[in-house]
Amino acid sequence: VPERLVVVGGDAAGMSAASQARRRRGPDDLEIIAFERGDYTSYSACGIPYLIGGVVEEAERLIVRTPQVFRECQSIDVRMRQEVIEIDLDRRAVKARSADDGDETWQGFDELLIATGGIPRRPRLGNSDARGIFGVQTLNDGVAVGAFLDQRVPNRAVILGAGYIGLEMAEALISKGLQVTLVDQRSQPMSTFDPDMGAVIRQALTGMGIQVHTEESAVAFEQSDGLVTAVVTSERTLPTDMVVLGLGTAPNTEIATAAGVRIGPSGAIGVDPHMRTDVAGVWAAGDCVEKFHRVARKGVSIALGTHANKEGRIAGINLGGGDATFPGVLGTATSKVCGLELSRTGLNESEAADAGFEFGSATIDSTTRAGYYPGAADIKTKLVFERGSGRLLGGQIIGQEGAAKRIDVIAAALWNEMSVGEMVNLDLSYAPPFSPVWDPILIAARKAVQVVEG
Ligand SMILES: Cc1cc2nc3c(=O)[nH]c(=O)nc-3n(C[C@H](O)[C@H](O)[C@H](O)COP(=O)(O)OP(=O)(O)OC[C@H]3O[C@@H](n4cnc5c(N)ncnc54)[C@H](O)[C@@H]3O)c2cc1C
Repeated sequence: VPERLVVVGGDAAGMSAASQARRRRGPDDLEIIAFERGDYTSYSACGIPYLIGGVVEEAERLIVRTPQVFRECQSIDVRMRQEVIEIDLDRRAVKARSADDGDETWQGFDELLIATGGIPRRPRLGNSDARGIFGVQTLNDGVAVGAFLDQRVPNRAVILGAGYIGLEMAEALISKGLQVTLVDQRSQPMSTFDPDMGAVIRQALTGMGIQVHTEESAVAFEQSDGLVTAVVTSERTLPTDMVVLGLGTAPNTEIATAAGVRIGPSGAIGVDPHMRTDVAGVWAAGDCVEKFHRVARKGVSIALGTHANKEGRIAGINLGGGDATFPGVLGTATSKVCGLELSRTGLNESEAADAGFEFGSATIDSTTRAGYYPGAADIKTKLVFERGSGRLLGGQIIGQEGAAKRIDVIAAALWNEMSVGEMVNLDLSYAPPFSPVWDPILIAARKAVQVVEG
């Protein structure tokens, strides 16, 4: 009798794990059943803003692998529109409820992988069920926003939350001709950046014609005939034709918590580097799990597809009989709003302070190409480092086309615990169409060394 692996959640982490386990163990050795409560498996949520903005033409283009492909090519029994509502660890079984007829069934497992992702934060305000208020968490959400834009042709949108999803949605809606207002309760857009970088981002957003209201929270929605007509904030009333919620997610730990699986201090499921929970035979991966931050040296909850895919792969290798560990994260992330590219890695100044570092920082302005080369555009690079040792702690980049992915060099240096002094002589490539002779990262490292040396 083959062993049975049950996967809860059929997206990035869950299906990466299932595929990886299948590659290592055939169907005679391992039966794999995956429960997914939604309509799609393995799709790129990251592409939703580009679907809504029309950069990607069809929702199907975001689907990496359909349930049929999993069933036919990988012998993975994908059960769609089935929500796992309970895990019984004594019986080693999960209870699933069908979204179509409400039928509930039990399914036993030998190994269980929890890959339930995140729950989008939604404000509990008056009229929050009005039409025209959208989350953008799932592909269905994205399709619903697209249909609303086509049918209603709205003129104005208010986006709650000025994090990266809020900004990407701002770009999508501007490209559809809407006037966009961003509202965030924090003091700046993109609060994962330091305030000086946040000020630059705010200025750029305003320059794009986006209204930005910070230190303001939504307190109610107004509606007429069931359709949203305004967002009332702590400061003003913003008339609007639609609202997009980009308030981030919390780890979806409900069924794990109810079953008694350990939850870490960050509020996500606690796992060891093999992606094992504290319950034998129960594994977890993706946005629902706590990650080890390699610089802060503590557990964090960060929702990123990059991490989810890697963690799923590690869990799958181990479930497939291999031995792999996940070494942790730096929180490297990148995004774009219209012509502005943003990226960050490691700790910003307030995170460095929280982690107990005595830190310094260096910020430089440069260009993405040689100054004389057509298309050379601005790039601002900031490094945060430990005073004394000069050990790199984090980096932030804001700039035009060609800026954002430079963060990967900083991330690689950070991963390898380099100091800013060691970074100065990194052998980075140079040709005029791609960078000045001193790459902006090297210029930033030189300035950082000056600060370290006083
Ligand atoms: C608009 C948007 C843009 C993004 N852009 C980026 C980006 O540019 N870069 C990046 O790195 N990340 C990005 N992300 C984040 C990335 O999409 C997530 O980190 C990633 O999808 C997490 O994968 P996951 O498998 O852990 O969780 P999810 O993708 O959330 O998958 C969890 C799945 O589990 C299912 N599920 C949950 N509970 C149950 C249950 N009880 N029973 C059955 N099924 C269940 C859900 O329906 C869902 O399909 C973006 C996210 C959004 C929404």
